[in-house]
Amino acid sequence: MKRYQREIVKYTAVICFTVIFSLIVLPGIIVGLYPQGSGEKPPVPGQTQAPGPDIQINVYRHESGKVVSVPLEEYVKGVVAGEMPSTFEVEALKAQAVAARTYAVSKVRRSATGNPAEHPDAPLCDDVHCQVYRTEEELKKLKGDQWMAEGYKKISEAVEATAGQVMYYQGALVEQPLFHSSSGGKTENSEDVFTSALPYLRSVDSPYEEDAPHQGESVSISMATFASKIKSVYPNAGTISRDTVKITEHSEGGRVETMKVGNASVTGRRVRDLFGLRSANFTISFTGSDIVFTTTGYGHGVGMSQYGANGMAKAGFGYTDILSHYYSGVEVKPVTAQ
Ligand SMILES: [Zn+2]
Repeated sequence: MKRYQREIVKYTAVICFTVIFSLIVLPGIIVGLYPQGSGEKPPVPGQTQAPGPDIQINVYRHESGKVVSVPLEEYVKGVVAGEMPSTFEVEALKAQAVAARTYAVSKVRRSATGNPAEHPDAPLCDDVHCQVYRTEEELKKLKGDQWMAEGYKKISEAVEATAGQVMYYQGALVEQPLFHSSSGGKTENSEDVFTSALPYLRSVDSPYEEDAPHQGESVSISMATFASKIKSVYPNAGTISRDTVKITEHSEGGRVETMKVGNASVTGRRVRDLFGLRSANFTISFTGSDIVFTTTGYGHGVGMSQYGANGMAKAGFGYTDILSHYYSGVEVKPVTAQ
């Protein structure tokens, strides 16, 4: 475990980056303007520890630039509403609730040693940097009364059914309950996508993703554009043509680990970022003067697949089955004082 503890600081930066990719799944939910809800309270002074589930947590609101205090369970409802469609199965919503709560409690506890530089006065913020959070009032404005009566009610019940429950790995609170939209059939080891090997973020099969969108999507890019973008990052890449572009290594989960592009060795993740691909799980082909990327899955592929979770729920699995499948070796149990 010491290895992991040493890497906590580095990994904290990584999570902020990675959560961005997992959250672009629901663009209709992530909107530009977030009026501040009237139900919020001023921040809890000097909050550094989360003693248990009955806590108020401090959240930095980007729109107002203020820190507000929100009861944990109300916060979790506002996060699940921002992370997963309410049309998903109840057991999948419960799994998402436990993941969101685990992340929040872990961030609050770690705030004893400092908050993120982006919001030094609160352990969490309300957008993709941490987890998307919306107040009930904001959700009502965004989605309307009918959604509140149906979707929000369903989400609220899923959150309440798991109130206070979080994930532990060998007695320690899980810090990085990462998730993504869909894996394309197999998730990734954390170190194959990010820098740290976390024991609960192992590559596992994700066999129930048949309803996931964005499978087998193709993106064509002219070789000229492809070469110019690559050279903007790798100026010494040399000649880039269809003969000098090859996938050289795959990860255990099936994503492209490295590509040879001219003289440059480029990670699949870098290619995904540079060209806005849905995932690094791609093949390449050439048509005319274009390079064609065909992607499977959506997101970074680490941790819980949301569509896989929904598929498992449809197949009759419960939320603890879903969580212990995607987060290897975890236990779901009530949050303890320490
Ligand atoms: Zn944040």
